Amino acid sequence: MTNLQRALIGDEGLVPTSHAGLTFPFGERSPEPGELLTIAPGIRWWRVPMSGPLKHVNGLILDDGDDLLAIDTGTASPRSTEAWRTILDGPLAGRRIGRVLGTHMHPDHIGLAGWLCRRFDADLLMTRTEWLMVRMLSSDARPEVPDEQLAFWRGAGWDEAQIARGAGAGWSNFGKMISRFPITYTRIRDGETLRIGDADWQVITGAGHSPEHACLVDHDRRILIAGDQVLPKISSNVSLHMSQPGEDPLGEWLESIAKFKRLPDDLLVLPGHGDPFYGLHARLDALDREHRDRLDALVDFMDEPRRGVDCFPKLFRRPIGPDVIGMATGEALAHLRHLEVTGRAVRETRDGVWWWRRA
Ligand SMILES: [Zn+2]
Repeated sequence: MTNLQRALIGDEGLVPTSHAGLTFPFGERSPEPGELLTIAPGIRWWRVPMSGPLKHVNGLILDDGDDLLAIDTGTASPRSTEAWRTILDGPLAGRRIGRVLGTHMHPDHIGLAGWLCRRFDADLLMTRTEWLMVRMLSSDARPEVPDEQLAFWRGAGWDEAQIARGAGAGWSNFGKMISRFPITYTRIRDGETLRIGDADWQVITGAGHSPEHACLVDHDRRILIAGDQVLPKISSNVSLHMSQPGEDPLGEWLESIAKFKRLPDDLLVLPGHGDPFYGLHARLDALDREHRDRLDALVDFMDEPRRGVDCFPKLFRRPIGPDVIGMATGEALAHLRHLEVTGRAVRETRDGVWWWRRA
């Protein structure tokens, strides 16, 4: 996987954030390669390996009557496929995966969903927007980076060399990270109850990291399957995208934080990356506070007009190289756009470049 492909996954948070107040009930114990660790009766946790700093995505295997339901899959890479074969031929030998649930559209979560569904003639469960996004992005097979994307990078303040590098990486990279995606699926919706085996799971959706991210809550057993909506140690990437430049993804992310705070605080959170933890409200409070601190820092920084790229040092405690510039740009623009929407900043366009100043 190239750096740009990795950046497109969108999961590699650039900001390590406070995890004060969290407890990790499994301590140092996390599944070894090929191992399934039982979280609760009928709920097994495993790691699907992937390249890049995150190293893995968490998979869950739930009892589902005589069959199994798999949540999130890893990217379509030889390494992830081999890891699947190891558990399918090992601890899951003889079992059928009857349903595959994708929490959201990112390739590390649904990359092997098509492969699994074909292998077992399984149903795919997703929210509608997430399924549509995967179908759309994997079908958009034009070779050249579209002009709209070049203009978006220019607007953010990329120089000509950066734009040329982005253009040179080509388009259609999303489709290379996923196996052929199912063209039929079963829609899951916010608020509905999903019966999995003997358990009732309530679907709760969030937005901002991806448009209609599904999480599942078992209120009886006090468990939240959180995907990338609530991660323990990194801040999920929240990006403004070329496709919807007038949206406010950070606003949606902050609203989702408030929505998830209405869940009980005593849930065991099973995140898409990192370790299971307790401390849902502390974590949501930290994420909310850190975004608001960053918004305040950007307003303070606007003693003169600033472009998206000018804001990197105020937002990220690491240098932004070609490997992460796409994600950093999306995140910077999401913050600037939120300041604009909330009336704290004003945008001017000069020669195709966006400049923000304090309102
Ligand atoms: Zn994600």
